[in-house]
Amino acid sequence: MGQQRTIAERRRARLGPVNPIDSPVTEGRAISPATTVTVGWLLIAAVNACFIVMEPLPPGGVSVRIPHLLFDVGQALAAGLLCGVAVSALQRWAPHGRFVGLSITTAVSVAIGLVVLPDDLMGLTALLVGPGRSRAWVWLVSAACSLVIPAAMLVGRILRRPRIRWIGFGVGAAGATVNNVLLPGDYPAIHLVISLAAATIAASSLVGAVLPERVHKMREAVPQIARRVALGIAVAAALLAVVIQPSHRVRVAMSRIDGATIPPLVARGHALVSCLFPSDSVAEARGQWLKSRKDARDVPPSNLGLVDPDQLIVVMVTIDSMRAELMTDPKYAARLPRLWALAAESTYFSQMESTGAGTVVTYSQIFTGKHVFQLKWTQSRPTPLMPKTQPMIHEDESVRFTELLSAAGIRTVTFANYAPLHPETGMLRGLDEAAFIHPESDDQRFALAKETIDAAVERIEKHDGGRMFLFVHLIDPHRPYDAAGQKGSKFDNYVAEIALCGIAIELVVKALKERGLWERTVFISGSDHGEGFNKHKGLRAHNTHLYEEVIHVPMFFRVPGLEGKVIDTMVSAMDLGPTILDLFGLQTPGEYMGQSLVPALAGEGVNLSRPILASTLKRFRKTALYQPPFKLIVNDRNKTAEVYDLSKDPDERDNLADTMADEMLKDLNALRSVHGLAPATKKASR
Ligand SMILES: [Zn+2]
Repeated sequence: MGQQRTIAERRRARLGPVNPIDSPVTEGRAISPATTVTVGWLLIAAVNACFIVMEPLPPGGVSVRIPHLLFDVGQALAAGLLCGVAVSALQRWAPHGRFVGLSITTAVSVAIGLVVLPDDLMGLTALLVGPGRSRAWVWLVSAACSLVIPAAMLVGRILRRPRIRWIGFGVGAAGATVNNVLLPGDYPAIHLVISLAAATIAASSLVGAVLPERVHKMREAVPQIARRVALGIAVAAALLAVVIQPSHRVRVAMSRIDGATIPPLVARGHALVSCLFPSDSVAEARGQWLKSRKDARDVPPSNLGLVDPDQLIVVMVTIDSMRAELMTDPKYAARLPRLWALAAESTYFSQMESTGAGTVVTYSQIFTGKHVFQLKWTQSRPTPLMPKTQPMIHEDESVRFTELLSAAGIRTVTFANYAPLHPETGMLRGLDEAAFIHPESDDQRFALAKETIDAAVERIEKHDGGRMFLFVHLIDPHRPYDAAGQKGSKFDNYVAEIALCGIAIELVVKALKERGLWERTVFISGSDHGEGFNKHKGLRAHNTHLYEEVIHVPMFFRVPGLEGKVIDTMVSAMDLGPTILDLFGLQTPGEYMGQSLVPALAGEGVNLSRPILASTLKRFRKTALYQPPFKLIVNDRNKTAEVYDLSKDPDERDNLADTMADEMLKDLNALRSVHGLAPATKKASR
């Protein structure tokens, strides 16, 4: 071999003095690199198994838990075997290239990083280089972060010595553990990169490890044929874990383990295969809502004489992040007295479902009357109010209902304390007057309810008496829940923030009364979405999930001349635009996906046929479809489907998707394909 030494010789040179017992190290006893890679992935599976076992037993009990464990280990084994084959191939084709493995690992890691990481690293990039910088920075940061994988390989190589190689194994285990604790319920790409790095450092540090003599002898005692059969069984098990689709219940359970990063990849593989070989067509378009509504006729106002549209003022003051239970559970009545009093003289919709899981996604749909998948989302341009860019609908041409109000001569006014709700960012249009209320002190993120409402009150005091639509959204209830001071639990502080909003709303009512406008005013209040508080795992605040603690919101309409009442029919925040247009005697555009609640307010009964949906922003890729009492939640990222019977299971624990999902999925996909989005989960969630 001349100057070049074989791998075995090099390994011998390195390991020779550290084989304490006796015999010279032989090839057969050292663990091969291919095996260490498999061991690395099994380490990840073992750590994940601990977290799986620690989860509360899901409905379905062990019939969900055991397949969950088996699929998770099987898929990790498949990942290990696949990587092992790649490593073996590399050794065969480039046996002497010291840095070939490292170079290839670096190239592959950067490629993976550039594909998957940008979405997850947008926020970090803005933090590092300032908001609103070009996309190239996000790629640069993604590439840099993906270098953690080759770095793990290098560190493992340094630790590749007896007595210290356990450190590499331990760091791998620690990485897999951290992966299950940090960033719960989100950032799937970061979780994937961490698990790759953890498996790599464990594997790399084990290369060349020598099996203890005893283990080696035991291994030798097993006939070769038996060893081959065992390997065959392992390969078959891994293959089955990848080829077979687990049930919906198992898939949802798997998607809740943040450190288990292989299942979503396998699920996407299944989705891809079923897209390539579709076996059934999307449900036929049926009914007026499952047809394109581009040419649908505008809906005339209901003319029920509820209010005089020529004298009308509509004031809509919404409160951020307010869960529905705060307005229905009597234990909050004493803590939110103003809101409860106002709701008592209003028509209260006890089953109001919001359109989205966050302010931007919710109001983008409310103001345009269209669902997330019907709207054009593009990265916003940095503006003085919103230097940090984010997906917005400023390039979407859909008519905002405020434009229709303004065109009809109704004064449209807003006071925004949250930048995306200022017309400058393009979500809202057609505002005759718009002001941004800056926080009074630098340590506040947003102007508080009182500061914002003072401006609205001032505007009401000088109102000329004409028709008006006034919209204010109060953003106080927001992490870290310190707007009302921090005395009790986080939840207590959050309720206190909502109470502050209630006090502010009372000031608006008082101003309307003093100005003599109250008996001409329809006053709308409620919320744009709720708040998680860990009712479901990984759901601390909002935005990322569609469970009821985030989507079920309070909403009430105080209409002059009407007594307070409660309507229990499920309605949607999508109905707000058509309702406000109808109150002013205006028609609703045919394209709008909501329906007026004016007949319901007028006591004419509730006859609503539009589909009720809720969505996250596209980044989180979740959509819910309500067909009372059932609710379907589809996750297009993990390819999971959940169905809950809200009448029997309001906490959404018992996933009925295995028996219920197919028909609802057909309807959802028909809606998405008819109205503009490719059917994403048709087969994927089967
Ligand atoms: Zn909000």
